[in-house]
Amino acid sequence: MGDQPGITRDRLHGAAEYQGRGFELIDTGGIVVDDAEYIPSQILKQARVALDRAEHIIFLVDGRSEITAPDRDLARMLLKLGKPISLAVNKADTGPHESLAHDFYSLGIANIFPVSAEHGIGVDALLEHVTAGFAETPGEERRDAIKVAIIGRPNVGKSTLLNVLTGEDRSIVSPIAGTTRDSVDETIVRDGVSYTFVDTAGIRRKGKTRQMAEKLSVVMARRNIRMADVALVLLDASEGVLALDATIAGYAHEGGRGVIVCVNKWDLIAEGKKTAFERDLRDQLKFLDYAPVLFLSAKTGVGVTRIFKAIREAYESATKRISTGELNRFVESLHFEERRIYYITQASIKPPTFVLFTNRTGPLHFSHIRYLTNQIRKRFGFVGTPIELKTKTKKD
Ligand code: GDP
Repeated sequence: MGDQPGITRDRLHGAAEYQGRGFELIDTGGIVVDDAEYIPSQILKQARVALDRAEHIIFLVDGRSEITAPDRDLARMLLKLGKPISLAVNKADTGPHESLAHDFYSLGIANIFPVSAEHGIGVDALLEHVTAGFAETPGEERRDAIKVAIIGRPNVGKSTLLNVLTGEDRSIVSPIAGTTRDSVDETIVRDGVSYTFVDTAGIRRKGKTRQMAEKLSVVMARRNIRMADVALVLLDASEGVLALDATIAGYAHEGGRGVIVCVNKWDLIAEGKKTAFERDLRDQLKFLDYAPVLFLSAKTGVGVTRIFKAIREAYESATKRISTGELNRFVESLHFEERRIYYITQASIKPPTFVLFTNRTGPLHFSHIRYLTNQIRKRFGFVGTPIELKTKTKKD
């Protein structure tokens, strides 16, 4: 892509990892120093920002061609930054590179790596060198992109919201084609966190008839929830909660993923209606009592930015682990007469699932489950995620 210095595009970046060391990779595209004519200053500015933030710079040159004057200018500019630099000589396997080796050394960059991006040759050695000083990401915290599903019935604004969420930040990493042509995920990076919106092609696709669109929205919701860590359940503020909304929200709840309710098209509603709207909504979607409700307008963009924080929080809740020690201190503080609880342990995440060891057989009554769930939430949070309780009998 960076072959033609004159042809530039938005900066690309994404979260990457090499042998347990996580880092962010930024592709500046082609840079030509002091070439205002070809490179709009905006793009140079973006490259500047990237270079300022970088901990290591990889200067990529084509191994089949001779070093040009702009290459030299750029190398000089990069060396002046005083940051670690590696020179990657691409396509070194296919060109008459031997004769050019001397040329590359003359750029003054000591660490030279012949690579073939196409064949993956030499890339390991380069990455090993580049990431050598980077901290290892601890296993638990190693963070892939948070997978997000945008679900809701037709016309609530799913594609409009998707466009704002992915377009606002000019850093779409890449649409990654899934197994089928019509399933495309899009990843963006925001404040160092990657978010992958699953099945974006499906979200943008429209059903031909109303009936078909409605069916499609349910099928998509069920499938996309399974692929996601967090589901955004979109509602249309001007229409309230309809039966189909409740069906889709129900699937989100049963999916056991993080759930955020987004009341879209809030621009159409008069001020001061939030409390009443949320009360009705909570009443109709009782099972989603743990889900935060956000009021927003995908069309005007008002309230949209907050979604990212809500997604992170829901994801953290869904993957949070409470130690057995903490849970036992919690049990001791409980006033639960119904059964004797010996101890509680967290068996899994997504959703957080707790196992209670008690002195009596049989499932707990619904109201007791609710009481205990509420107590766990009161103590440990878990905003944005369902939690599950299971009981087991422990023989004395
Ligand atoms: P989808 O079927 O859920 O993907 O819905 P679309 O994104 O296609 O939106 C359906 C219609 O609602 C379009 O005409 C949008 O312009 C409109 N729309 C989407 N979001 C908003 C919003 O926040 N406010 C208003 N007033 N209209 C919106």
